[in-house]
Amino acid sequence: MTAAYEPDNIFAKIIAGEIPSVKLYEDEDTLAFMDVMPQAPGHLLVIPKSRARNLLDADPAVLGKLIAVVQMLAKAAKTAFAADGVYVAQFNEPAAGQTVFHLHFHVVPRMDGVPLKPHAGGMADVEMLKEQAERIKAVL
Ligand code: AMP
Repeated sequence: MTAAYEPDNIFAKIIAGEIPSVKLYEDEDTLAFMDVMPQAPGHLLVIPKSRARNLLDADPAVLGKLIAVVQMLAKAAKTAFAADGVYVAQFNEPAAGQTVFHLHFHVVPRMDGVPLKPHAGGMADVEMLKEQAERIKAVL
């Protein structure tokens, strides 16, 4: 059985506007913002506004809307960064690498031959993240 949703997680606080984030897309159901510890330029996260701990307890109707936004932003990020490819990742529970317990998809532009930086490595400069968010927004 999947563990319970923990309402005080950091992404719930971002949805509630209690902590800042570098947003690049928002609709009624979905929010997307830049990852503060990017594995490559343009690394963004897509989350549902409704509660889900991860893929295992998510409502399929929510997932349907969410993955459509993941696709849209994967295309936009690939174009914005003139990337060769785009990596989409999603982790379920600590054993699989999940560290924030609100469902999220990672979207990361990839260049041929350029390795990813470590997952949850160093904090990025916020002004740089804002500039990257603007680049993606410009092609939406
Ligand atoms: P994971 O749960 O392993 O998929 O990873 C959570 C991701 O959230 C990591 O890539 C972190 O860099 C990112 N992250 C953690 N806190 C924040 C935050 N306040 N704003 C944006 N990204 C965050």
